[in-house]
Amino acid sequence: MAELISLVVPCYNEEQSLPYFWKETTAVMRQMDYLDFEVIFVDDGSRDKTLEILRALAASDSRVKYLSFSRNFGKEAAMYAGLEHAKGDYAAVMDADLQDPPALLEEMYRAVTQEGYDSAATRRVTRKGEPPIRSFFARMFYKIINKMADVEIVDGARDFRLMNRKFLNALLELKERNRFSKGLFGWVGFKTKWLEFENVERVAGETKWSFWKLFKYSIEGIVAFTTTPLTLASFMGFLLCMVALCSTVFIVVRKLLFGDPVSGWASTASIITFIGGIQLFFMGIFGQYLAKAYTEIKNRPIYIVAESNFQEE
Ligand code: UDP
Ligand code: MG
Repeated sequence: MAELISLVVPCYNEEQSLPYFWKETTAVMRQMDYLDFEVIFVDDGSRDKTLEILRALAASDSRVKYLSFSRNFGKEAAMYAGLEHAKGDYAAVMDADLQDPPALLEEMYRAVTQEGYDSAATRRVTRKGEPPIRSFFARMFYKIINKMADVEIVDGARDFRLMNRKFLNALLELKERNRFSKGLFGWVGFKTKWLEFENVERVAGETKWSFWKLFKYSIEGIVAFTTTPLTLASFMGFLLCMVALCSTVFIVVRKLLFGDPVSGWASTASIITFIGGIQLFFMGIFGQYLAKAYTEIKNRPIYIVAESNFQEE
């Protein structure tokens, strides 16, 4: 029997791109006819006709499976759900907008079957077509997180990745709620081959990521993969104590030598404000960690399925 590949496709309001996606993917599956495929679409609480399209696809092709969430849980939850349901010897995650070219699958498959890798990952080497401000902040994010985190988080890495069972099972062991796949992939280890490609713009529809969403996601990444900001807070506190000690000695000595002309109200006020600001800033950081711990402890499910065509076993 041929080996089975599971393709996991998170979809959020993708009615416009799905027809293009399906056309290109079926072409690739035809080309790789030495393999069996299952395509698991995860409808992440779409508000457009995505689910209708998926139902129709499933009716017309037995390789199509779908899960539909009860609301929008986010791409990370959708990927996890799809991978959890994958039965394949290999599984790949792919975006529905063709920004992850299905044509690369063949090369990825070769890497995991013939070249001894456990996963084949992709990174785009350009950010062509992206707003420059967004590229700038994205670059900065990767610089910062890589300085602080132990696992490597590759700049430009996509979630588009083919993995073998061993890799997949390890990934599914990580049941955390605050999922940051770019880090989780690195965290599980194993051997990964990186394939590079030029950025492709989405075929249709619009990106689901606002600047604010991306910002929150980047905080999630930092909190999930490093506690360096906490160390930084202690360090900063220590430094300020030292400064305070020195200035106290300075003031006492000055008083003894020159008497005490009261002056410097403005500088005192700004010092107090500055220190208050730093304290609030780091309290915010502590709060982030605490909030993440809180969501983990509640232990809610990562997603809730409202409808699917999987037979419950
Ligand atoms: N997506 C999702 N849930 C969300 C947001 C996005 O399942 O809440 C899916 C989306 O349908 C697409 C993929 O994740 O298949 C990547 O989203 P998008 O193309 O909007 O992101 P970008 O490529 O701009 O980073
Ligand atoms: Mg996209």
